[in-house]
Amino acid sequence: MLVVEDEARLATALQRGLQAEGFAVDIALDGPTGLDQARHGEYDAMILDVMLPGLSGYRVVRALRAEKHWLPVLMLSAKDGEHDQADGLDCGADDYLTKPFSFVVLLARLRALLRRGAPQRPAVLTVGDLSLDPARRRVTVGGAEVVLTTREYGLLQYLMRRAGDVVSKTELLDHVWDASEETAPNAVEVYIGYLRRKLGRNVLETVRGAGYRLVAGAS
Ligand code: CA
Repeated sequence: MLVVEDEARLATALQRGLQAEGFAVDIALDGPTGLDQARHGEYDAMILDVMLPGLSGYRVVRALRAEKHWLPVLMLSAKDGEHDQADGLDCGADDYLTKPFSFVVLLARLRALLRRGAPQRPAVLTVGDLSLDPARRRVTVGGAEVVLTTREYGLLQYLMRRAGDVVSKTELLDHVWDASEETAPNAVEVYIGYLRRKLGRNVLETVRGAGYRLVAGAS
């Protein structure tokens, strides 16, 4: 367990209380140290104050999530507006507790967080030897990485979620292209062509008059 809290007395009280419950607890007294420890330590969860010297709790959790660290985070704050709670959850925290809080409540919320485990990271999509990892934005074919443009990636992700189904051109235009964009009438064909070139010709079937189908293990 990592406790990031600049009020030393509160930090120590939390540490003692959590240790009495059987947790191993490290303390960080400012934002940058807390971020560094969260990055490099093997913690089950982090209790993170919002108002911290150096780097706010919001920025700590945002930095962790941006780096794909999925450590469960319980935020603490003296503020109690709904707005602040939304800020905390928006930036990637998993739960939020307003100071002053009772230790019993903190413990209950922490246990609930640990039961839930790490926040859900997007699952890796796999179709045959084709794999797409949304968290890392990485596509591989037979284990070898394939570099895609943003549009190609969006198109492939959509087709992989619908693997085996025939997906119409209209549906692809609706879901992969922004409504506001100027889109050439043959945009879908063009990008399907790009994907075939990069992934192998047989991965994407053309179903005449109906659309396209991504098929498993065909490359
Ligand atoms: Ca503080």
